[in-house]
Amino acid sequence: MSINAFVSQGHGIQTDGTYDCGCTYGDYTESDLMCPITKAFVARVRALGLSCDSDSDTGNDRNITLCVRDANNAEATIYVSLHCDYDQAPSGTYPIVYPDSSEGIRLAQCLDNAIRARINIGTRGILQRADYEVSNTNMPACIFETGSISTDLSILRDQGWAYGDAAGYGIADYFSIAYGDIPVAPSSPGVDNPVPTTGTQADICLEYGDTGIVVGQLQRDLRAMAYEDESGNTIIVDDDFGPATEYAVRRLQSVHGL
Ligand SMILES: [Zn+2]
Repeated sequence: MSINAFVSQGHGIQTDGTYDCGCTYGDYTESDLMCPITKAFVARVRALGLSCDSDSDTGNDRNITLCVRDANNAEATIYVSLHCDYDQAPSGTYPIVYPDSSEGIRLAQCLDNAIRARINIGTRGILQRADYEVSNTNMPACIFETGSISTDLSILRDQGWAYGDAAGYGIADYFSIAYGDIPVAPSSPGVDNPVPTTGTQADICLEYGDTGIVVGQLQRDLRAMAYEDESGNTIIVDDDFGPATEYAVRRLQSVHGL
């Protein structure tokens, strides 16, 4: 069997051309933090002699939907998407696989073992949940939440290259490929330690009537935390701070005593 891994840098340019940066913490974004991790992962998989496709080769120009499409079209043998969890999430790795997918679970376990043998991070265990990337891929798939963007920031930011390199070994383990002869890590091209690129987002104060991508990120965060509008509907990400968003923010503030 020929092996062709598809490794997705979580988030990126959406089908409508807009950019989805994933979750944020202060000035850090999920997509930026996943850049060195994904590049190192891909470099390690290739150094192990395996074929690998990735949107990290082309500037993270594809989001989740397009990566799934391309992996299916390429008949990839496995699919891994690299993410980090939002700022309220506990510390630790959190791989997500399709419910009862024994190969998905085995892939998640191989990745998690390879990472935690080399990086000092705990795990929250494997989550079986029918998220888009594991539901719509035609091959064993894992959404790998590498850690919490807040609690695990120092690992994700300062050890990103080592983290991705470690994860790459998990692919060899999954396919039972020996790698004793390849001890040298592919060197980092200097993409480690991503610097914040989003300005002073932590200090931005949003209010009713505001519009733009920062409002969109707030709406994504509210969705991720399951805050709903007054009628119990999921918040729609439309970059527009309207009544539904305001209601959800007030709920969040009251829950947290703000
Ligand atoms: Zn994500």
